[in-house]
Amino acid sequence: MRSYDTILVGLGLAGGCLAWAHQARGSELLVIDREESVTASRIAAGLVTPVTGQRLVKTWRLDEFYPCARDFYRWVEIETGVAFFHELPAVRLFVDDNERACYEKRQSSPSYAGMFAPIDRWPASMPAPFGGVELVPAARLDVAQFLQVTREHLRSRQCYRAGELQLPQDVQLIHDGVELPAWGVRARHLIFCQGYAAHANPWFQGFAWNPAKGEILIVAIPGHEEPRIVHRGIWIAPTGMKNASGDRLYRVGATYDWSRLDQVPTPHGREELEQRLASSLTVPFHVVGHDAAIRPILKNLNPVIGCLPEHPAIGFMNGLGSKGSLLAPYFSQQLTGHLLEGIPLEPAVDFSIRRGQGG
Ligand SMILES: Cc1cc2nc3c(=O)[nH]c(=O)nc-3n(C[C@H](O)[C@H](O)[C@H](O)COP(=O)(O)OP(=O)(O)OC[C@H]3O[C@@H](n4cnc5c(N)ncnc54)[C@H](O)[C@@H]3O)c2cc1C
Repeated sequence: MRSYDTILVGLGLAGGCLAWAHQARGSELLVIDREESVTASRIAAGLVTPVTGQRLVKTWRLDEFYPCARDFYRWVEIETGVAFFHELPAVRLFVDDNERACYEKRQSSPSYAGMFAPIDRWPASMPAPFGGVELVPAARLDVAQFLQVTREHLRSRQCYRAGELQLPQDVQLIHDGVELPAWGVRARHLIFCQGYAAHANPWFQGFAWNPAKGEILIVAIPGHEEPRIVHRGIWIAPTGMKNASGDRLYRVGATYDWSRLDQVPTPHGREELEQRLASSLTVPFHVVGHDAAIRPILKNLNPVIGCLPEHPAIGFMNGLGSKGSLLAPYFSQQLTGHLLEGIPLEPAVDFSIRRGQGG
């Protein structure tokens, strides 16, 4: 039976970042993923946005998380020779006077210093009767590309297996770790990075979920050439790809639905996004793709990382919500330091504390 320091279950943003954080510390690692064609990470636009919502609220701990995420993804880019973290200011076009008034208030607040800049080139084909502003720092992580290079990297080092871990029958707890007899492996730690699938994990219990289904479109917009992410009630993000006619493809999103928790794209979701896009553009577009997946959001909103107090070999990284691209690098490094060197976790995200509080 082959031995590892850590086995990770799930190769989404959580598992991908955790794998790199482990490799940076020379840990012996195996990643198991069931290779679903649609997951939250695979369809995510990967936007990293400094302010969100109609009230332009600054993203939680942006000043800590953004430099950490940028340095982390840049390092993986160097390791793999593939670029997937694209930094560029985002554009916010105000939808009404209220939004503009919110911006004016935020602009004078010291905690927002340096985050707003005048727009030097207005997006073509997008009306802006209430004005707008550029947002920094902002970026787009090409999540599908990040996952693909991560999978290839792990495969080339014999650190990756495709398949579904059956729970709980595939897992045997032993005195100093876990064994997966059907897989012929054992490890000191088995860390679940399953996204919303963890709601059925018998060890990830005691957490209140608030998962949200999200739908996005991929659209071709002939003649529209905008490299920045534009927010105008919805967001329109470049994909870096073109269709056969040479038109640039953009992701447009996203819906939030807390009632139908499946991965099925709906006519209603498509209609909502098409209507909102039509009111944001003065040129025609056509839809070439439509996806849906579930965001792993916990009621508490913060991510959760750490191990089961009663079985410290079993651990988790979950609850990345709508901000996996920004949060995963920071919390994967924190969890890795905890697993390999016993460094304490922040109480706000510590599994053992959070479970005691009901999630
Ligand atoms: C429409 C939409 C748009 C989004 N846009 C953004 C965005 O712009 N920016 C942003 O930061 N975030 C965005 N998000 C959120 C982001 O997708 C999530 O934060 C992130 O993907 C969660 O990653 P995860 O690794 O926790 O979960 P997942 O992506 O769900 O990954 C879990 C992995 O575990 C695997 N797995 C589960 N169980 C098993 C098992 N038993 N055995 C083997 N494998 C298993 C799954 O197949 C999957 O590969 C968006 C989400 C949606 C739905």
